Amino acid sequence: MERTLFTEEQHIFREQYRKFLQKEVQPHTEAWREAGIVPREMFKKMGEHGFLLTWADEAHGGLGLEDFRYQQIMMEEDATYSDSGFYHTLHSRLVAPYIGNIGNAEQKARLLPKCVTGETILAVAMTEPDAGSDIAGIKTRAVDNGDHWELSGSKTYISNGINADIVIVAAKTNPDNPRHIGLFIVERGMEGFERGRNLKKMGLKAQDTAELFFNNVRVPKENVLGDAHKGFHYLMIGLAEERLLAAVGYVAAANRAFVVTKEFVKDRKAFGKAISDFQNTRFQMATLSAELDMAQVYVDHCVVMHNEGKLTLDMAAKAKLVTSELEGRMVDVGVQLHGGAGYMEEYEICRLYTNARISRIYAGSSEIMREIIARSVFDA
Ligand SMILES: Cc1cc2nc3c(=O)[nH]c(=O)nc-3n(C[C@H](O)[C@H](O)[C@H](O)COP(=O)(O)OP(=O)(O)OC[C@H]3O[C@@H](n4cnc5c(N)ncnc54)[C@H](O)[C@@H]3O)c2cc1C
Repeated sequence: MERTLFTEEQHIFREQYRKFLQKEVQPHTEAWREAGIVPREMFKKMGEHGFLLTWADEAHGGLGLEDFRYQQIMMEEDATYSDSGFYHTLHSRLVAPYIGNIGNAEQKARLLPKCVTGETILAVAMTEPDAGSDIAGIKTRAVDNGDHWELSGSKTYISNGINADIVIVAAKTNPDNPRHIGLFIVERGMEGFERGRNLKKMGLKAQDTAELFFNNVRVPKENVLGDAHKGFHYLMIGLAEERLLAAVGYVAAANRAFVVTKEFVKDRKAFGKAISDFQNTRFQMATLSAELDMAQVYVDHCVVMHNEGKLTLDMAAKAKLVTSELEGRMVDVGVQLHGGAGYMEEYEICRLYTNARISRIYAGSSEIMREIIARSVFDA
């Protein structure tokens, strides 16, 4: 489908980024999946080429490209030439904006330049063993001790959890009010900050997903983001963009699964003809092709709205819900049409299938997305 969303300059950016991925990333992805982690140097390499925190001010070393389409382009190219376990998007566009949007001038000047160069890798820790969808249920606690906060608790399933130098940790700051949450900047080396296992997962094999422990960690006051009681509010502000990012990635991954499947069924033969000649194959792929184009148009619309500051929570929830469910259907049909090959790790569709299963769960599950959309339908 031809898209009119991007400028000439952005097409050039896409070409440059694709070349970078083909040279510096694609040859290594298999090794990263084997290792269960992306080497830290890769973040530096991304930084050297200007591909981290593209939105950051030039004063902090960034390119000042606030236009969301640059991130969209990178995610679309990643779907073909990178591995979704290389989670630089989390670093650049999910975590760093907390510092960029809520941090004070001193925090920005101190922290952002090394995030831009990739010397500092970022993670965000909200989920706990007993609380995921329900953030108000977290138990990690921060106690005000005058010149510092004392942080205790544990987090789990944290992306970039092993590589991260800075983790933005959500913790309760008022025992009498469960909605009083603070966002604390916890740095590598702080006493009492420990990492657990790099968790073994169904998919996203190259991504380090870890447990984190905070045993009476002294977090200096200058490492609190904004108001120590307003973390809930700050988390909510970032959610629409987070879900749009998710949707961009899912529709890109689904498109990739479509291409991979199309190529396979044209080649593979049974009963004297190509699998693509069976009406079942043609109809299933035709339906998915139509659905993918519809989803892409809506996601592109959301990107435009986001650039204009008009993306609402329910629009982003719709994009996340529909694209993650579509990705799930696409990879399932993809594996089916590959036959036994689809179950083999050496075929890309197998990886796309296992990677896709988390899309309906994290960044807000499909059930939570339906809750948000239902509120806009009935309670607005
Ligand atoms: C690979 C991976 C990476 C992750 N990265 C991070 C990260 O970097 N940082 C981080 O903080 N977290 C991260 N997470 C955690 C992720 O955000 C949570 O797993 C997710 O929010 C769901 O929470 P949960 O696992 O506790 O499930 P639960 O909240 O226990 O949900 C279980 C089931 O109940 C359903 N449910 C819950 N509430 C409702 C409701 N009100 N109505 C209907 N159904 C409901 C859910 O949809 C789900 O189907 C990651 C998880 C994974 C697997």
